[in-house]
Amino acid sequence: MNYLNHVLLSSIVVVDSSIWEGLSMAFVILEACQTEKAGECTTVCPVDCIEEGPDQFYIDPDICIDCAACQAVCPVDAIEEEYDLTPEQEVFLEKAEAFFANK
Ligand code: SF4
Ligand code: SF4
Repeated sequence: MNYLNHVLLSSIVVVDSSIWEGLSMAFVILEACQTEKAGECTTVCPVDCIEEGPDQFYIDPDICIDCAACQAVCPVDAIEEEYDLTPEQEVFLEKAEAFFANK
């Protein structure tokens, strides 16, 4: 492959991955978890991306594959898709990002 083709191919890959990041969504655990917190969600996650924090469980937004298995088993409806968060709930995504960034 010559240099020009390599540069063009690299640009396509970069554009594609940025589009994917913009489209991919994670699930987010909300405040209701803090009162139950038995961890049922961790037993069904196929990518093992849910961990217990000091106040509630958190989903790693960089690993979650958006399968919804955890949402189906949560007894207190504490799990929402990122896409459906209200402005007031956005803080729980920020808390999850901070939790995994500090690990
Ligand atoms: S199943 Fe729901 S309440 Fe239980 S730990 Fe998971 S998110 Fe929290
Ligand atoms: S949506 Fe699927 S991958 Fe994401 S945290 Fe829940 S069970 Fe795990």
